Amino acid sequence: MPTPYLGRFAPSPTGPLHMGSLATAVGSFLDAKVHSGQWLLRIEDIDEGRCDSASVEHILHTLTRHGLQWQGELWVQSQRHAVYQAALNQLSTQNLTYPCACTRKEIDEANAQRAPGENRIYPGTCKHGMPLGREARAIRFRCPAEPVKWRDHRLGNFRDDLNASSGDFVLKRGDGFWAYHLVVVLDDLASHVTHIVRGEDLTDTTARQIALWQALADTTPPPAYWHLPVILAEDGQKLSKQTGALAVPEHDPVLNLNTVWQHFGLGKIKATSAMEWLESAAPVWANYRADQAAR
Ligand code: GLU
Repeated sequence: MPTPYLGRFAPSPTGPLHMGSLATAVGSFLDAKVHSGQWLLRIEDIDEGRCDSASVEHILHTLTRHGLQWQGELWVQSQRHAVYQAALNQLSTQNLTYPCACTRKEIDEANAQRAPGENRIYPGTCKHGMPLGREARAIRFRCPAEPVKWRDHRLGNFRDDLNASSGDFVLKRGDGFWAYHLVVVLDDLASHVTHIVRGEDLTDTTARQIALWQALADTTPPPAYWHLPVILAEDGQKLSKQTGALAVPEHDPVLNLNTVWQHFGLGKIKATSAMEWLESAAPVWANYRADQAAR
């Protein structure tokens, strides 16, 4: 029996849904649909200071208006602190975490030789114990020594040596703030996600997430990944709330769906409703999926 397909859309409600997020929603929805799978919706509101309930409402309303109906309960990260803490405790028992006292400034200083655009790597100062008299500011994950190997449906094979690209990364900050990598993986694991279709701006987070997945899941293999091209603003910047991306326009869902479609390089679909549009789009998506497969 093939594994059932379980996909998800996981927006952060830091503003209204914009066209870039709608594109990811449509892509992940159709991918689940063509596999006769399920599509879950997860509200990633773990950074409570940046998220608000008006944005959650707007996201739910916009998805519904576009016929993007999720299955089952809505997953909400801000309700899952206890689960995250239990998982962190499990990793600590496995000796896969350690407390770290380093400040941002100290880490910057250790990276002084690196060019401005390059990743900052944690130098491992506290790996074998914090310097005497210092207090923990964060809990870090011990990266595996072996490179993480994974395959993206479109972008092909990756081999990421985390010790050279990020170093041991933060799971929880001293102020109680959970790192995105940990909560994403825990939620994907708990909801049995098998396929992740999301924007390519998240490609380089994948190896860290797979390393965590492998540490947390006994035998469940990591999900399959497909990073979609992201919609860029006219100035070439990624569309985001930070760059002032506008909310998806209200009046004509079919027009919005066709705008997303055009972004994927696909031809306009004539339809009188979003539901009808999605029905016609599904077989086109199946072909697009096949065309996009990395050789
Ligand atoms: N919440 C993330 C975002 O809105 C997406 C996380 C994911 O799909 O893994 O960019």
